Amino acid sequence: MAQKRTDKIVALVCSECKRQNYITTRNKVNMEGKLVLKKYCKFCKKITEHKESSKLK
Ligand SMILES: [Zn+2]
Repeated sequence: MAQKRTDKIVALVCSECKRQNYITTRNKVNMEGKLVLKKYCKFCKKITEHKESSKLK
């Protein structure tokens, strides 16, 4: 059975300390451009912007 995959796994990297804090999936069909989310960073101990990175550590 062929399964159509439209989402891809991406990392969310803190824009301040550049650490990878989250892994999420991204649907290429309904999302354009770079994903930026406000998330809590346990290293910065505050909510920062997390940017999408396709590089998974
Ligand atoms: Zn951080």
